[in-house]
Amino acid sequence: MNPSLLNKLCCPLDKQELESKVFVQHENGDIIEGLLTCPACRRYYPIIYGIPILTPDEYREKALEEPILKKWGLALTESGAGSFLLKA
Ligand SMILES: [Zn+2]
Repeated sequence: MNPSLLNKLCCPLDKQELESKVFVQHENGDIIEGLLTCPACRRYYPIIYGIPILTPDEYREKALEEPILKKWGLALTESGAGSFLLKA
């Protein structure tokens, strides 16, 4: 994804601006792998294969996301409410 799109993305839940971290970037500047986090609700949204995954809680599958989070040195924690949070 083009980094200029970052300014246009917001948390689907509360519409807050997202903070971004880039892990893998193409030589043309496109973000291939990265992480978007919402400072308001602490949800995270991964960027995988250049696609930001802004899916609501109920349609997300931890089993699919955990391997890539692990690769980035991150882990999930249970929120108790079915939401996806990163271990601090
Ligand atoms: Zn949020």
